[in-house]
Amino acid sequence: MRIVCIGGGPAGLYFAISAKLRDAGHDITVIERDPPGATYGWGVVYWDDLLDILFRNDPDSARAVRAESVLWQEQRVILRSEQTAYLPGYGFSVGRAALLDILGQRAAELGIDLQYRREVEDLAEVADADLVVICDGANSRTRTRHGEDFGARVDLGGNPYIWLGTDKVFDSFTFAFEHSCAGWIWFHAYPSTAGTSTCIVECAQRTWQGLGFDSLSSEDSVRLLEKIFEHALDGHALISQSRSEPARWLRFTHVTNRTWYHNNLVLVGDAAHTTHFTLGSGTRLAMIDAVMLAQSLYHHDEPSTALADYDQRGRAALRQIQAGARTSMAWFERADHYLDRQDAVAFAYSMAGRQGAQPPWRYQTHLATQIPTVRKALRRFHTARRGYLALRRGESAAHLRPAPRTTR
Ligand SMILES: Cc1cc2nc3c(=O)[nH]c(=O)nc-3n(C[C@H](O)[C@H](O)[C@H](O)COP(=O)(O)OP(=O)(O)OC[C@H]3O[C@@H](n4cnc5c(N)ncnc54)[C@H](O)[C@@H]3O)c2cc1C
Repeated sequence: MRIVCIGGGPAGLYFAISAKLRDAGHDITVIERDPPGATYGWGVVYWDDLLDILFRNDPDSARAVRAESVLWQEQRVILRSEQTAYLPGYGFSVGRAALLDILGQRAAELGIDLQYRREVEDLAEVADADLVVICDGANSRTRTRHGEDFGARVDLGGNPYIWLGTDKVFDSFTFAFEHSCAGWIWFHAYPSTAGTSTCIVECAQRTWQGLGFDSLSSEDSVRLLEKIFEHALDGHALISQSRSEPARWLRFTHVTNRTWYHNNLVLVGDAAHTTHFTLGSGTRLAMIDAVMLAQSLYHHDEPSTALADYDQRGRAALRQIQAGARTSMAWFERADHYLDRQDAVAFAYSMAGRQGAQPPWRYQTHLATQIPTVRKALRRFHTARRGYLALRRGESAAHLRPAPRTTR
């Protein structure tokens, strides 16, 4: 089958790899407007469940992704640089650039035709394809042009956010909330590559305007943020440059589609659906879509049956996650309300339960998590669990070492 993917992000590259691995006879082209190595954003977090899927689907690229990833342990919630509360758990993070580099190399190795620096303006350019995979992201031009066929709906979140990097290395997933003269402002930070962390800053629209971000240049915005978060960043710098452009303040693009396919066009990843970044799941879901579509094409002789199967299974699996993501986004849009009334421990508890009610005993375990010896025991337990899961999926022993301790 002749397949063209429009967009060489995680969805497009991983679909190409997954389809080619299942049928080497497919003739697959991935068209990406940017040059290799250029991308927006910083690191993305993920958990063991994604590694399980990647190792099952393509151990070669999975090993490379794991080797480029860093581990973070616990979530730390800091209020006004004064109070800290903890949530247990761990996860991984990988730089977007590194992830795309690995997937691009793997795709090339499998004989997929990668056409960088080419922007698809019109579907007529790919009219010779049997299947066109639309994976050009949340603001997909192709989906926008065919919006009615997909029943596309796009709306924007209320809080402005900016996706930055920092040379401070966090070893936990860290939320720092500061009270400025115009209201609360906070960051979500986690390690992304050796020597850097991702730092996403968010606040309510009125705070954003009150602090003057609507009229500040990108450079001045970053300097002001460094001042606001001086303590939480230990005086480290924020880095704005990404894709050789300064990062911009944005509002989250929430995408839904009534259907993910139309004739020989199929939506994958953010072009099909987005989930708010406070869930940390968009890349994971894009890669799961990719595997699901490749699998459906492999199982069904008739492409139209394969697309219907992918559409039905994909949308059913996503419904609850997307609802949870909306609730999470809405909770952060009301964060000022909770921050004004709660201390760090109570606030962290309500943040952890933002997607639904928690059983009463959870609060007792949350209180216990604030005790250092309990956290130490939980870390040991998680290290053992991580090791077990890693061995089960066939990771090499090199990745089972605990993460190096950093400052704080
Ligand atoms: C602030 C923030 C933080 C996030 N953090 C996480 C996280 O921690 N964990 C997580 O799992 N997810 C996270 N995400 C979500 C994640 O970034 C996306 O879900 C993921 O990138 C989707 O992959 P994709 O391939 O569908 O789209 P993209 O990664 O957007 O890729 C689309 C590609 O298409 C290309 N393109 C666009 N138009 C054209 C065209 N006309 N012709 C050719 N090429 C084109 C683009 O250049 C791009 O390379 C975050 C998102 C945001 C905004």
